[in-house]
Amino acid sequence: MKIRADIAELLHAGHRDNAIAKQLGACPKTIARARAALGLPQNPPGRPVYNTLEAAWHAHTEPADSGHLLWTGTVNSGVPVIRYKGQRHSAYLIAYRIGHSRDPKGRCRPDCGRPGCVAPSHVDDGPGRARTRALLAAIFGEESAS
Ligand SMILES: [Zn+2]
Repeated sequence: MKIRADIAELLHAGHRDNAIAKQLGACPKTIARARAALGLPQNPPGRPVYNTLEAAWHAHTEPADSGHLLWTGTVNSGVPVIRYKGQRHSAYLIAYRIGHSRDPKGRCRPDCGRPGCVAPSHVDDGPGRARTRALLAAIFGEESAS
């Protein structure tokens, strides 16, 4: 059986069949056959178990138009959050770490204007937003940057 690379990657990362099917727009039966062909155990009953925080984060996102990635998980006081191994994390912070390979300085949030977007390239920290404002001011003048 030929197994799509994206399906195999998500199966190895510990995602559930239904979550993979939803994310990739594939048939759940195809995912189940791929799981069996790879020799991976069936979905455990109960809540899904993720091998990494990033895998758990990814399972709660949904691609949208223009490169946005929408959060489908819990939102607490306007901030998308994820609980992993008993700890709560900001989905923006995880997105920033994925996109920049380091921890953010100051508060991080999306700067693309799309509410609920957690696309790693759309989330920036305090110094990153300041750089963007300065760049916009240099290009368009001070009024446009506010
Ligand atoms: Zn966005």
